[in-house]
Amino acid sequence: MARKQDVCSFCGRPKQETKLLVSGLDAHICDGCIEQAYIILGEEQERTTKHIAPDFKLLKPLQIKEFLDQYVIGQDEAKRVLAVAVYNHYKRITQPQTKDDVEIEKSNIILVGETGTGKTLLARTIARMLHVPFAIADATVLTEAGYVGEDVESILSRLLQAADYDVKAAEKGIVFIDEIDKIARKSDNPSITRDVSGEGVQQALLKLLEGTIVNVPPQGGRKHPEQKMIQVDTKNILFVAGGAFDGIERIIAARTRTNVIGYGSDTKQLVDKDNLLQYIAPADLKKFGLIPEIVGRLPILTYLHPLTKETLKRILTDPKNALVKQFVRLFEMDGIKLILDETVLDFVVEKSIEFKLGARGLRAMLEAILTDDMFELPSKKGVRELHITLEKAHSKFNKSGISKLKVA
Ligand code: ADP
Repeated sequence: MARKQDVCSFCGRPKQETKLLVSGLDAHICDGCIEQAYIILGEEQERTTKHIAPDFKLLKPLQIKEFLDQYVIGQDEAKRVLAVAVYNHYKRITQPQTKDDVEIEKSNIILVGETGTGKTLLARTIARMLHVPFAIADATVLTEAGYVGEDVESILSRLLQAADYDVKAAEKGIVFIDEIDKIARKSDNPSITRDVSGEGVQQALLKLLEGTIVNVPPQGGRKHPEQKMIQVDTKNILFVAGGAFDGIERIIAARTRTNVIGYGSDTKQLVDKDNLLQYIAPADLKKFGLIPEIVGRLPILTYLHPLTKETLKRILTDPKNALVKQFVRLFEMDGIKLILDETVLDFVVEKSIEFKLGARGLRAMLEAILTDDMFELPSKKGVRELHITLEKAHSKFNKSGISKLKVA
């Protein structure tokens, strides 16, 4: 019989039956028991920390909205809906399981609004607030498995990359799926025999939204048999989908019109024809071509307003990292005080609208106006101030390439 010092104090296996026996003061442990203990340790840590980033702090909906207000201008309805949805979602995954069987369902979100109105910005800002991994996926590049394009699993590859391959962190992350409207069913097009970029993708996406364990190729791209897969559970990943849904107003109009018939003439006035998006309902998304199952898995539906002149102007100056603040800082670093006249800001807004570039155009316009000075002034001695008047803005803009880009 083996001497006491030659057996594992945990499982009793003699040294010769182990690969390794580590000696302590008065006890020994074998490789098998070390492995077991390691697994227990991991499970215990998971139970207590729940793998939310250490600086994760769950703000109340009102605080979430206040945080969003610092970065996103306007869009109050969307912010309120998002704040509640995010609050509930993270309450659901951070709170210990209760004994009763009340299971709070996942609250994936769909944002409807013209391009450039702040959908991505909202999702990104929420992720920044929560300190969770965030990935953006473009629905237009996705195709059904086996076809040219990306598999839906590639969405999770991106999230894994954003999480530095910390699977547990990725499993609590946020994924923004852009242009979800572009994978609507195209059943009205008879030339398409197999809708590989529409319904098929929606079906594949459904799995992710529902919450399932997915084999993810870590480097993205196609699944290769030789590539080692990483298993990711999507149960607690918050999916935010966004889309412009061009023409959905017509569907909403048709539905609201049918609804008001028979309710007397007073009810008709309740429908604000200039802002039909506010009445958007899941039925409209189905009619647009999203399959009912997808609509069901994106239960929180809200909308964004088109950006007005006033909103665009505020976007230039108000957010915490507003464009104007960024340019002022850039010049400040060279010891130059940048002064932009109010009329210049109005000009920038008007040109963005005229060129149909929305908020994305604001930066391009400012770049066009300021690039010459950003190039020349750092090498000039003694320049302490740069004052941009409307006249100067006009002339710089007219010389720039962007002025030739005007769309009809
Ligand atoms: P979308 O996802 O709706 O197409 P984005 O969120 O990508 O639009 O917006 C494009 C850019 O325009 C953002 O990076 C941001 O600088 C600016 N922007 C758009 N809407 C807003 C807004 N409501 N508040 C502040 N900035 C905005």
